[in-house]
Amino acid sequence: MPPESSAKQEVIVQGIPASQGIAYGQVFVYIQSNVEVPSYAVDPEKGIDEIARFDRALVITRQQISKIKNEVEKNIGPEEALIFDAHLMVLEDQALIGETIREFEGTGRNIETCFNKVAARYIQAFSEIDDEYLRERAGDIRDVAQRVLQNLLGQAENSLTRLADKRVVVANDISPSDSAGIDRSAALGIVTDSGSKTSHAVIVARSMKVPAVVGVRDLSQRVQNSDWVIVDGYDGLVIINPSESTLFRYGKIREQREGVESRLLEANRQPAVTLDGVAVTLMANIEKVDEVKLVRDYNAEGIGLFRTEYLYLNSARVPSEAEQAVAYRTVVESLAPLPVVIRTLDLGGDKPMAGNPGLFPKESNPFMGFRAIRFCLEHTDIFKDQLRAILMASAHGKVRIMYPMISGAEELARANAVLDECKAELRTKGTAFDEKLEVGTMIEIPSAAATSDLLAQECDFFSIGTNDLIQYLLAIDRVNDRIAHLYEPTHPAVLRTLKNIVDEAHRAKIPVSVCGEMAGDPVLVPLLLGLGVDALSMTPPLIPAVRYLVRAMKMADAKKLAKEALGMASPKDILTRCLDFYSERTKMEGAPTGRRAGGRPGR
Ligand code: PEP
Ligand code: MG
Repeated sequence: MPPESSAKQEVIVQGIPASQGIAYGQVFVYIQSNVEVPSYAVDPEKGIDEIARFDRALVITRQQISKIKNEVEKNIGPEEALIFDAHLMVLEDQALIGETIREFEGTGRNIETCFNKVAARYIQAFSEIDDEYLRERAGDIRDVAQRVLQNLLGQAENSLTRLADKRVVVANDISPSDSAGIDRSAALGIVTDSGSKTSHAVIVARSMKVPAVVGVRDLSQRVQNSDWVIVDGYDGLVIINPSESTLFRYGKIREQREGVESRLLEANRQPAVTLDGVAVTLMANIEKVDEVKLVRDYNAEGIGLFRTEYLYLNSARVPSEAEQAVAYRTVVESLAPLPVVIRTLDLGGDKPMAGNPGLFPKESNPFMGFRAIRFCLEHTDIFKDQLRAILMASAHGKVRIMYPMISGAEELARANAVLDECKAELRTKGTAFDEKLEVGTMIEIPSAAATSDLLAQECDFFSIGTNDLIQYLLAIDRVNDRIAHLYEPTHPAVLRTLKNIVDEAHRAKIPVSVCGEMAGDPVLVPLLLGLGVDALSMTPPLIPAVRYLVRAMKMADAKKLAKEALGMASPKDILTRCLDFYSERTKMEGAPTGRRAGGRPGR
């Protein structure tokens, strides 16, 4: 244990368990771009020092960007490195620098406040320009401004993409673009003040096998970089400056849980077949191309959800058709003949393209806003680039296309019409693609669920996005920690809706899978299977626990469970029934349920 932590008081904070595992390490408090910078008056006699501080931050930022540029040029390519020239140009912008200094001279506030204010003005002005190229510059200014602010605030060496050493990341929130770039080798654990089990940062944490706890309110303001914490991703606890006895107890818990995990991993090579002989298809969800390795490691039968928006999130520009074609082909080829379901862009909502505010203006209700297929049907140039890239990859393995956020049959028909145009263009050019490529629809909006009979006539498969479906069905914002306890997958409305979707899919003789987080929760899996779901797609590290459960249960019992649950009124009672079903079949001590020990169940 570090010497200084023994002197500090141990504090235990309860949050929401979001990614299983136990981590112990020193804190890195991550300050997000939109977190307010401190504002204070500067002693007029120290004005020169303040401007010198600004100059130094600009020089350091220039050195950092040049270094990244060289690395990108060497490791990825000169074209990709061009963006950093644009960033360097922002740093040379005399108007921006001059205005900051004038703001400082006029107000006497600290230089961070002045720079932040001027940069925000520039970002706003650029994002309103009616020229796509200039609009994109707003993203460059935001990125660079962030870096300059970090340097001014002394946070330069530790950004999420380059943690100086192994740390537990504590943040107010981590956006999807932040989480996509997180330093996977150094993040020991993740703790966020806000968020819920289905927020995208958490989904990424789970795929990284990093313990995570969310919904800890103001913890990021209560800890400092010198603190040490335990992150208990099983029970949703964060223990700040743990005592020696707590560390000892957690050492034991970790040993026990790791024992369970290694037994689950050993059994993970077995087929996912129930005791009464029904095979269940277990697929993987991935966000990034390099995660394709996890699909084989965890013995998945293919990819049930490739969230392609992660290719866009950290980029200031939209990736070209050719770049996307390479990415998709890499995934498809390395898994062939296993199937890969490529979901078309689901940008917007809590996943705006950070570097491109022109394409995603701020909205007061982003989850119900300009998102996913709505965006694609308005920006058909971007949509078509992606569709052609997916079609081209389909010549190299088994590809399926899936549209997110479809609200009804008309919208599905519009998306399919754009796909037909792309196919025609490729045929004219003589470019190969799979003519029999299957097209599916995500069912994640209540209107789609209610019209699943109509949608089933127009596509080859359904995949239920329970993360969004539950959010819209129960009117519970999926990333709002205050109402996270009301987000109940076992709500009768959810069960009835799932049953309707499955029945309509089967009536039309198309398969239906679930790719929301519910599919990776072994406590809820029997319910889904009992309702008739054909396949489950989840973050790869969750597969062993789900496979274990599948092999320990009978499908006939799962059907009885689902039937019984459909006749029940209380979400809590249904959950208790599911927990009983699960623990009767998994006798392993310490088997993970993802729920808090002895307390109110997590989600
Ligand atoms: C879902 O909504 O369940 C889903 C899988 O999509 P995402 O989490 O990417 O919104
Ligand atoms: Mg969704």
